[in-house]
Amino acid sequence: MSNKKKIVEMEIESVNMELPDTKTLRFKWPEDYGVEFKTGQFITVYWPDSPKYKRAYSLSSCALDDGYFEVTVKRDGKMGTRVVDWAEAGHSMFVIPPTGRFLPVFDPPGKHLICVAGGSGVTPFRGFVREAARRKLDTKITILYSVRTTEDIIFNHEFRELEKANPNFKFLVTCTRLGEDDPWPGRRGRISAEWVNEQIGNIDDTYFYACGPNALVENTEKLIREQMGVPKEQMKTEKWG
Ligand SMILES: Cc1cc2nc3c(=O)[nH]c(=O)nc-3n(C[C@H](O)[C@H](O)[C@H](O)COP(=O)(O)OP(=O)(O)OC[C@H]3O[C@@H](n4cnc5c(N)ncnc54)[C@H](O)[C@@H]3O)c2cc1C
Repeated sequence: MSNKKKIVEMEIESVNMELPDTKTLRFKWPEDYGVEFKTGQFITVYWPDSPKYKRAYSLSSCALDDGYFEVTVKRDGKMGTRVVDWAEAGHSMFVIPPTGRFLPVFDPPGKHLICVAGGSGVTPFRGFVREAARRKLDTKITILYSVRTTEDIIFNHEFRELEKANPNFKFLVTCTRLGEDDPWPGRRGRISAEWVNEQIGNIDDTYFYACGPNALVENTEKLIREQMGVPKEQMKTEKWG
């Protein structure tokens, strides 16, 4: 069997708490792993003691990151809780190689990717932004990120730094459940067609992405496809429960 298709046990090289309930795991590739994959795809993982319980996680690293995969997991459900509360550097998990069609359109150049995310749905967009920055692409990327409160913004610092360094990248956040007395000066409320519309320059050069919990992705798809009339070739979705 070629390495491309092989399920391998990988060591967790390092872990990083992004938020109190969100952890990034870095899986170290074994020697001669030789995998082919694309930014935006997901891996499927399971613990050696529970091989039947497999779960998918989008890569939060990108295809130019050589030697490792990163995934960023929120404490939610059985696998999410086990990973966030128990996974440590030195543990290992089985990894099914990346697959999926939630891919950034980088070619032809000059496109605008409007990326709508809710909660942990922001993870693959970190990969998009990373690849675009490393390759110095002129692709515009705008992330529209819906979170409950300012405490829930995953990759906040990293995205703010990237935004400063790259005029083609914008990271826009809306908070849905902030108290009225909270000093957050940014946007509040759910993602709306008006907010999405404000980001669009030339609609023909724009691709729309939506990622995260089912309800957010389905609502976003409705407003972009039905209310705004965007053809399906210009929209990609990735949903999880
Ligand atoms: C392509 C893809 C990519 C994904 N990428 C990511 C990612 O990057 N990051 C990420 O964090 N997740 C991601 N997910 C989701 C991930 O695969 C898991 O589903 C998630 O971590 C939850 O773990 P679980 O399925 O074991 O939860 P389960 O234990 O099966 O629970 C599923 C859901 O039901 C809820 N639930 C469970 N028990 C109860 C109960 N008694 N009452 C009410 N609610 C309950 C849980 O809170 C959870 O929301 C992705 C999913 C897909 C399909």
